[in-house]
Amino acid sequence: MSDDNVEDVEAFRQRAREWIRANLRRADGPGQTLRGKDEQQDLAEVAREREVQRMLFDAGFAGICVPKDYAGQGLTPAHQRAFNDELVGYEYPARLQVPPMTPCMAVLLEFGTEEQKQRHVPAILKGEEIWMQLLSEPSGGSDVAGALTSAVREGDEWLLNGSKIWTSGAWWADWGLVLARTNWDVPKHRGLSVFILPLNAPGVTVHRIEMLNGNREFCQEFLSDVRVPDSDRIGDVDDGWTVGVRWLFHERMQHNSPYVTRPTGATREGEKGSILKVVRDAGRIDDPVARELAGEALEIGLVTEALNHRVARGIMTGTMSDQAAAVGRLLMCVSLSRQSTIAFEIAGAAGGAWADDDGEAAERGTDFLMRQTPSIGGGTTEMARNVIAERVLGMPREQALDRNVPFREVPRGSARQ
Ligand SMILES: Cc1cc2nc3c(=O)[nH]c(=O)nc-3n(C[C@H](O)[C@H](O)[C@H](O)COP(=O)(O)OP(=O)(O)OC[C@H]3O[C@@H](n4cnc5c(N)ncnc54)[C@H](O)[C@@H]3O)c2cc1C
Repeated sequence: MSDDNVEDVEAFRQRAREWIRANLRRADGPGQTLRGKDEQQDLAEVAREREVQRMLFDAGFAGICVPKDYAGQGLTPAHQRAFNDELVGYEYPARLQVPPMTPCMAVLLEFGTEEQKQRHVPAILKGEEIWMQLLSEPSGGSDVAGALTSAVREGDEWLLNGSKIWTSGAWWADWGLVLARTNWDVPKHRGLSVFILPLNAPGVTVHRIEMLNGNREFCQEFLSDVRVPDSDRIGDVDDGWTVGVRWLFHERMQHNSPYVTRPTGATREGEKGSILKVVRDAGRIDDPVARELAGEALEIGLVTEALNHRVARGIMTGTMSDQAAAVGRLLMCVSLSRQSTIAFEIAGAAGGAWADDDGEAAERGTDFLMRQTPSIGGGTTEMARNVIAERVLGMPREQALDRNVPFREVPRGSARQ
């Protein structure tokens, strides 16, 4: 321990290394993928991840940067990074990181009441509660402040009605953060509030959506007269945008957030396993074209990781504005997309029609078709470019015809209320 009673990072790293090696399974293949799985397989994986999260908690490695008051370790981002370095090559509770730890838990820590934090943060760290974010709506996800889901006050409760969509993992999650409209007579940013929603509450219907690759993780939720107590409101009434701005920041931080436990470099070669294995399994290890492409994939992975680390540190130390998170996010999305394209090019025919022994070269065509996914989830790259232009570079703001208009009067076609 150092003078101020914070464990030395190197001592912590050593302790983490020993515990990880003694307790966690080796990760035997690519990380979490979007490929189709059956429901039982998904549920078994979620159950194992809850178990691993609980093991982390019991060993004193969950919530490394979460204050001790909420059952965290009260340590620093440097400790979290050391833990993540040691985690390379081992299993980890992937589904319990983004969005449960960030943005959801991060928002709770920043805006929750003492009671809300005591109730939920330790449960999240133990893997007992998995949280998802209910932001996007069928009318659009980029214009987050344009939410049409309504919350109407009835005494000590709120009545929620509307629909949210593209919620990752809602069908196996426990709780959601919901952005809803509580005032239609003020401009859009000034009439929103944020609520905590148990996803099994009466009136919540969760439908699963099948994607092109067969994955059914995405959900659409219908909220019909869902009752939420006022004690489950986060932030002030009609001031949900103050919460929303930070919510989006924590979302853009994604895996660079100090609340996320994830092997360092997990995005270095994309989520789909080693590019070198693709080269080998495609039988192209001596092919100069494949080698050059693999070099490019590794290079952009390293640059992205270094930039993200730098931006995260800049934000944490106050030398960069929070908005700079959009820079890291943009580069990561562009890189992941390019890496999928490269893997597909290297895989050749096996990427489109594969046999059992094609190994890592198999299914790369499906990944190629899904390559834009990271550029949409967590806000699109176009929106990240807008943030960089307006908030980082200080360029003029995009024209918005609805900025100073009461939301009720904004033309919205058939969805108008
Ligand atoms: C993998 C993944 C996970 C997701 N998880 C969640 C989740 O857990 N919870 C959740 O709520 N949502 C989630 N989403 C939804 C995601 O946040 C939205 O898809 C995204 O914000 C875009 O919204 P949209 O699809 O409605 O497109 P739209 O908002 O309709 O946009 C359509 C197109 O127009 C562009 N565009 C829109 N406005 C502008 C502008 N002002 N300037 C320039 N271009 C613009 C967009 O970039 C996009 O290309 C997820 C999506 C993906 C792919």
